[in-house]
Amino acid sequence: MIYCDKFFPTKGGPSKVYDYDLLVIGAGSGGVRASRMAAATGASVAVAEERYLGGTCVNVGCVPKKLFYYSSHFHEDFSDAKGYGWDLSVNYFDWPTLRENKNTEIARLNGIYQSMLENAGVTIYPYRAEIVGPHKVLLEGKTITAEKILIAAGGRPYVPEFSGAELALSSDDIFYLEQLPSRALVVGGGYIAVEFAGIFQGLGVNTELAYRGTQLLRTFDQDLGSRLASEQTDKGVTVSLEMDVETITKNDQHGLTVSFKNGRIEDYDLVLFATGRKAYTANLGLESTRAELRSNGSIIVDDYFQTAEPSIFALGDIIGTPELTPVALAQAMAFVDGQFKQRPRTIDYSYIPTAVFCQPNIATVGLTEAEAINQFNEISIYRSEFKTLKNSLSKNNERTFMKLIVDVASDKVVGIHMMGSEAGEIIQGLAVALKAGATKALFDATIGVHPTIAEEFVTMRTAS
Ligand code: NDP
Repeated sequence: MIYCDKFFPTKGGPSKVYDYDLLVIGAGSGGVRASRMAAATGASVAVAEERYLGGTCVNVGCVPKKLFYYSSHFHEDFSDAKGYGWDLSVNYFDWPTLRENKNTEIARLNGIYQSMLENAGVTIYPYRAEIVGPHKVLLEGKTITAEKILIAAGGRPYVPEFSGAELALSSDDIFYLEQLPSRALVVGGGYIAVEFAGIFQGLGVNTELAYRGTQLLRTFDQDLGSRLASEQTDKGVTVSLEMDVETITKNDQHGLTVSFKNGRIEDYDLVLFATGRKAYTANLGLESTRAELRSNGSIIVDDYFQTAEPSIFALGDIIGTPELTPVALAQAMAFVDGQFKQRPRTIDYSYIPTAVFCQPNIATVGLTEAEAINQFNEISIYRSEFKTLKNSLSKNNERTFMKLIVDVASDKVVGIHMMGSEAGEIIQGLAVALKAGATKALFDATIGVHPTIAEEFVTMRTAS
């Protein structure tokens, strides 16, 4: 790889006082975007990255996860095809083929990120960075200086402390497995847990999803979690609610024995903990500055991404805003506008659409029913639940669910929730409508596209 051609070149910004105008820590989604955009304004920029270019999203997150999701869904597609006259007798899935093809694609993306940075004139330091002062960073024992330091180091998977926690894998490990397990336990009830339960099951792994609470996707609209549990169960996942792991030990069969807090004991080949992520601020050296952290380790910034140390900024998963790639990208653009284009602006975090690539997909934008009840005097709820046309011939029992939440006083649609095929694709356009303040009357006046699943969003007439 081509990185810094000379170690610590003194490029000098307009002031020539510092080595760089901007030093970015972390070449993930937010860090790369901020580096490129700042460099495009003529600033001298360097980025330090200790692991891989592209960060979590490209390497151990969104991108490989979506590839695995596609692969795991073929299982159901082949079965659905039968009712349409196709006889696809496929009995074998080759994990190494998927893993290696995925690795090749990720390597290609790493290369694209590298050339994007190089073409923008950004110097890449492939090292861990430690902040040692408001304008100083230590890289491989040497100090470089920058007028501004931007921390975009992201987060890392969090696994709680318990006896045998070191035997559990996290989402960082799961993309490189030597072989697929026969039996897997996925712990958690959030994004990663429900996504990986579906992926494992679709790839032929006997999968159990164990969640400590009573409802999966607890922070989503309450209508989604229970429906998802029932759909996942139909697809073969064992969904165990109010099930909390106490210990994990190695057993004589080269597997793992899990003891649950309710006294149940089971054997698995693999245990994945998908129990959230934490800001990656450990050993970053922020104590040498005035920047402040919350108790969960995330960095406190103002609306313009500035910490309490004026020369130090932070954005992305490390600052406690929604941990989503498009949010980090939007923050990076706003940061560059403010610091390098003299156009300071804040980010509007309302109506951020999001999708969970569980099976079936879930997507949502705006308020949940509980949030809307708190915020408005009167709301109307429109619900629709049905079997899609495609599932008629395939005899697939999967149900699609859609929900609109309307503030009665203004008639504005304030929340949209969906579980069903391509929910993530459908919600993007609806997010634009909500951002534009679309009313229910406008939804009603919009002509549907027939026959599609999405048309249901403009044909719901009876409030429930
Ligand atoms: P989430 O915050 O979504 O979910 C964490 C889950 O772990 C919750 O169900 C939580 O339970 C549970 N949990 C937390 N602590 C413990 C514990 N000590 N013991 C047992 N269970 C525990 O985190 P994820 O790791 O799934 O994902 C991290 C973030 O990454 C997401 O919030 C999301 O922002 C992002 N992401 C986005 C994706 C997308 O856009 N499609 C995909 C994957 C990740 P409880 O509800 O009871 O607190």
